[in-house]
Amino acid sequence: MTTAERGTCPRCQGPHVHHHVFGLPSPSAFLTEDGDIVDWVTIEGCVVLDDEPRFDRRCEDCRHRWNAADDAEPSG
Ligand SMILES: [Zn+2]
Repeated sequence: MTTAERGTCPRCQGPHVHHHVFGLPSPSAFLTEDGDIVDWVTIEGCVVLDDEPRFDRRCEDCRHRWNAADDAEPSG
């Protein structure tokens, strides 16, 4: 059972959001009932590309890329 929320694209509101997960050793939140990683998540391991911004969300509909942290509403 997947516990992570896939979310929607902030640009086109599409539901086909692809998650890139960095350095997560046990991605249990992204497992299906069969124990496989859900197909909308890519586990990036601990590889850090300093030359590129680390977008961790990508829309498969309009190719928009963004960071989930930027999408969070400030509570204050
Ligand atoms: Zn989109």
